[in-house]
Amino acid sequence: MSGHILEIQNLRTDFSIAGGIVRAVRGIDLFVDRGEFLGVVGESGCGKSVTMLSVMRLLSENATVRADRLAFDGRDLLRLDHKKMRRMLGDEIGMIFQDPMTSLDPLYTIGNQIMEPLKIHRKMSGHEARKRAVEMLDLVGIPSPEQRLKQYPHEFSGGMRQRVMIAIAMSCNPKLLIADEPTTALDVTIQAQILELMKDMQEKFSAATLLITHDLGVIASTCSRVVVMYGGLIMESGDVEDIFYRPAHPYTIGLLSSISDAADTGKKKLSPIPGSPPDLMNPPRGCPFTARCDFAMRICAASRPALAETVPGSGHGVACWLRDTRAKLDGTGVTAR
Ligand code: SF4
Repeated sequence: MSGHILEIQNLRTDFSIAGGIVRAVRGIDLFVDRGEFLGVVGESGCGKSVTMLSVMRLLSENATVRADRLAFDGRDLLRLDHKKMRRMLGDEIGMIFQDPMTSLDPLYTIGNQIMEPLKIHRKMSGHEARKRAVEMLDLVGIPSPEQRLKQYPHEFSGGMRQRVMIAIAMSCNPKLLIADEPTTALDVTIQAQILELMKDMQEKFSAATLLITHDLGVIASTCSRVVVMYGGLIMESGDVEDIFYRPAHPYTIGLLSSISDAADTGKKKLSPIPGSPPDLMNPPRGCPFTARCDFAMRICAASRPALAETVPGSGHGVACWLRDTRAKLDGTGVTAR
């Protein structure tokens, strides 16, 4: 069996809306290895959350998902019926979403919500599920777990609720954990604690983790590999060192220039990327970053560059015409090949 727990080839996801079709994901290849911590980063609307919701088949009815391959643990997800997919979610694939208050049911105790997937997926008795629920709350650092099981979500703080979500997601010992902006709703101190907890849990349970975020700081502190998305496509991918120390795509470089670092004394000038992301109802034919790129050439608007490795075998992929040996700048920044 391959080392990939998740394999995506040529994934395309469209949404039919009143004004036309939104091409949210436009042909991406991505994999997650067993036990690895992969980050997917990009601005809002770049397609990162839609990609993962496509994998989990949690999209609205106006969505169409197509792919050459969409496999989890060797199984073709496109062939699984709704029932089998539901069985897999919450069992082999755990999920954590941005806002734990809307993910937790306010009418049920925390205990009920942790015990339910254990009874459904693992066929545990009430007693066994309760024991496991106490163990999970203890593992995620919630004091007095026996008592806390009887409480409702509104009796927990935001950080504690996210800890509960992690306990629920990990309770069935999933092979893959998908976390979509899990710390965005939290303040920075709690954010750091939750990220640390996610790393701990990933090591304890050896689950592959796919973290979706717009925050490069979150990626730097947790992930080993990174995929950078823009305009429904992958712009760059590689080890965390490649992306932070050897970025090769103008969009990645722009993202890095627009964040401050921990050692920032306030003297560093932050440079936001001017302009806005492309309209995915009328996506650009060529590179989606053309309109905002200082290095754009004529070829960029006309043709989409493929994701190619900077050095063969390095795993550092970049989708940019600047990597093409025939491309050269002429001082005006608009040289064609
Ligand atoms: Fe810029 Fe062209 Fe590279 Fe796109 S392909 S990032 S527009 S240089």
